[in-house]
Amino acid sequence: MNARFLELEITGACYHLCRHCYGSFPREGELDKYTVMQVIDEAGGYFDCIIFSGGEPFLHPDLIALTHHAQDFVVFITTTGDALGKEQLLDLPGNVVLVFGLDGIGEVHDYYRGKPGAYARLLKSLELTQDRPKEIIVTLWKGMLSQVDDIIALAEHYGALLHFNAVIPVGRARLNREILLSREENEMMHEKLETLRRERGAFLVTDLYKITEKDLGGIDLFCKGRYSITPTGDVRPCEFHPGVFGNIFETSLGHIIEQAKESDFIKARETGFKDQVRLDVQNPFNYHTEICHTFAL
Ligand code: SF4
Repeated sequence: MNARFLELEITGACYHLCRHCYGSFPREGELDKYTVMQVIDEAGGYFDCIIFSGGEPFLHPDLIALTHHAQDFVVFITTTGDALGKEQLLDLPGNVVLVFGLDGIGEVHDYYRGKPGAYARLLKSLELTQDRPKEIIVTLWKGMLSQVDDIIALAEHYGALLHFNAVIPVGRARLNREILLSREENEMMHEKLETLRRERGAFLVTDLYKITEKDLGGIDLFCKGRYSITPTGDVRPCEFHPGVFGNIFETSLGHIIEQAKESDFIKARETGFKDQVRLDVQNPFNYHTEICHTFAL
C-alpha cells in the first residue's frame, strides 16, 4: 500500500512567484494553529505522512509547534529554502524531512522563481541542513533541461534525495505555457530519467509518467490515499485538483474523508482510474488534467 499523505497548505504567503505554481501563490489565507492541531489529531488512522506546505510554510508563525504536534507522522516541509534561520532548524524534531524546491542552477533558478538572489539563499539553507534528511524537488521545465547533470551533482554534494517533478498545467503554469516541455522533450527526459533511476536507485525519483497500454489496468498513481487542505480550509483530492469535498471550518476532517471515500471519484482514483484510462489522450505525459480532471467529484 502507498504511504497516505495529507498535505496542509498552512499559509498562502510566499516569497516566490514560481512560473508553474499550482496554487498561484502568494494569496490570501492561513490555517490557525489550533485548527491545524485538531486536524492532525484527526489524521491518525487515515494518514501516515503530513506535508506542511503553502505558500512558504516557514512564514507561518507556528510551524515549529505544529511539527512537534505531528510527531506520530513522517513530516515533510516543502520550502523555497529562502532565508531559513539556524534557530528554526535547530527546533525541528527528528521526524521532519525538508523538501527544497530547486528549478535550475544560479540565475536560471532565480528567473523561474521571480526572485533575484533566491539560488544563493537556497544554497545557504542546504549548507545549514547538511545533517538533516532532505529532498530536492526539481520542476521539469524547458529552461533547466541542459542543467540536469549539474543538478544531480548538486543533490549528491548536499546529500539530498532528488525528485524530478513533471509540470502539471494548472494554476500559474496555465499562463506560462512557454515553460512546458514539447512532446519530444518529454520523451527524451522520460528515457533519460528512467535510465538514471535504474543506475542510481532510490537517490533519484521522478513522477514524469507516460500513459501506455499497461495503464489500461490502472495507472500507478502516486496520489492514492492523498488529500490536501487549502489555506482557507477546503479539503481536495490533491493540490492540483480543483474539486472540494468539504471545509474543515464546517465539518470534521474524519467526516469529510469518510464521505469522500464513498464518492465515485475516490473509488476510481484508488483503482488508478482503470475504467477511465484512454490511450487517445493528446499528451500521454499528462494524465492529471486529461483523465483525472475530466472525472467530476
Ligand atoms: S491524478 Fe488527479 S488526484 Fe492524482 S495527483 Fe493528479 S490531479 Fe491529483
